[in-house]
Amino acid sequence: MGASPAEGPTVTHVFHRQLNTTYPRAVAAQGVTITDADGRTYIDASGGAAVSCLGHGHPDVLAAMHRQIDRMAYAHTSFFTTDVAEELADELVARAPAGMGRAYFVSGGSEAVEAALKMARQYFVEIGQPQRRHFIARRQSYHGNTLGALAVGGNEWRRRQFAPLLIDVTHVSPCYEYRDRRADETPEQYGARLVRELSEAIDRLGGENVIAFVAETVVGATAGALVPVPGYLKGVRELCDRHGILLILDEVMCGMGRTGTLYACEQEGVVPDLVTIAKGLGGGYQPIGAVLAQQRLVEAFERGSGLFQHGHTYIGHPVACAAALAVQRVIQRDGLLEAVRRQGAGLRERLQAAFGAHPHVGDIRGRGLFQALELVRERTSKAPFDPQWKLHARIKREAMAQGLMVYPMGGTIDGQQGDHVLLAPPFIVGDADLDAIVERLSRAVDNALASLPAG
Ligand code: PMP
Repeated sequence: MGASPAEGPTVTHVFHRQLNTTYPRAVAAQGVTITDADGRTYIDASGGAAVSCLGHGHPDVLAAMHRQIDRMAYAHTSFFTTDVAEELADELVARAPAGMGRAYFVSGGSEAVEAALKMARQYFVEIGQPQRRHFIARRQSYHGNTLGALAVGGNEWRRRQFAPLLIDVTHVSPCYEYRDRRADETPEQYGARLVRELSEAIDRLGGENVIAFVAETVVGATAGALVPVPGYLKGVRELCDRHGILLILDEVMCGMGRTGTLYACEQEGVVPDLVTIAKGLGGGYQPIGAVLAQQRLVEAFERGSGLFQHGHTYIGHPVACAAALAVQRVIQRDGLLEAVRRQGAGLRERLQAAFGAHPHVGDIRGRGLFQALELVRERTSKAPFDPQWKLHARIKREAMAQGLMVYPMGGTIDGQQGDHVLLAPPFIVGDADLDAIVERLSRAVDNALASLPAG
């Protein structure tokens, strides 16, 4: 039995994220709830980290995994392909943005980003442009914790102590309408200004030296469901095309239906050269991610060395592929993209009703079942709370005490943004669940605010 938090720290040999924290022990999960060893239940309003798109314990996914384990758990990809990997790739390519030719499987989001960066670099080597060696990405973005992914990521706090080890990446402004659009600009003018900034960065590096621009279509972990302004990504796409630069969209968090379409970029009318997916691909039933690549890139590899010089032991893992195939088939069969749009609108309405006039909620934003609150000390100035107070962590603690899982993020040290709470519930979330999520979140936010030091 696990010790309850009230009993204080217990000896653990797991190297946990936070070494001085006692976590409740999760022992069971079904539908939208997780239960701990003390019998307390939590509504999973964040899908873990926007992972559990089908909720927990879905019988079709479990059955598909069992069938695969009974047949064969593992076969190394340097010897074999498998039916499940082929079927999953067929399914993904058939429903991907136009022109995608292949799916490269990995075990998670960071691996997907690493593979995409290396694929992009190798593509230019294959086509005789080895001088291309720069990536451009955005501040306040998150692309993973491995060194390449961390280098393109633009979250200062995560990068700081590893900075000497990271490849040199040029970072430009994020598309952060709430904070950065000037009062005298339309959203379209703001987007055009950002594209000009990117254009200047490209010119400084020399367009012929840039490999790719990397961006999350809808930003998740570092800024809470930041949606691009209309036309911005189209402008980015045109600019990349003008210089022969690849566009890598990271849809590890926002892809696979989370925003109401299978890929978030569908709503922007933009087709990337490479797109990374992970979390919702396997819905947490197995660790799996993928990079989808445009056919013309694949052909360059075929004409050239015939080898993508990369690989991991567990790529294309049969049980992970079986789980992902089952998750994606249930989403289609049960019309769950439509459910994301409908329940996403319901979640947004409830957030608006609960927090629309809240003195410390500056912004409510997002798309589909990917919605966030940005908390501020004062709405007019948009001044954030003191980052030392860790309001986001207080909200998480209070939410857990209410039986609610939400995904919190801190404000930046330099005060560029406020604390956030991100919601990403399973696509099967019901109306009564949404009522409970917003009620519990309201109490958690108010309790956390009441716990702040005076002043
Ligand atoms: N890219 C994005 C957009 C993400 O949100 C994440 C995870 N939060 C990653 C990459 C890294 O994925 P993983 O944690 O599976 O390595």
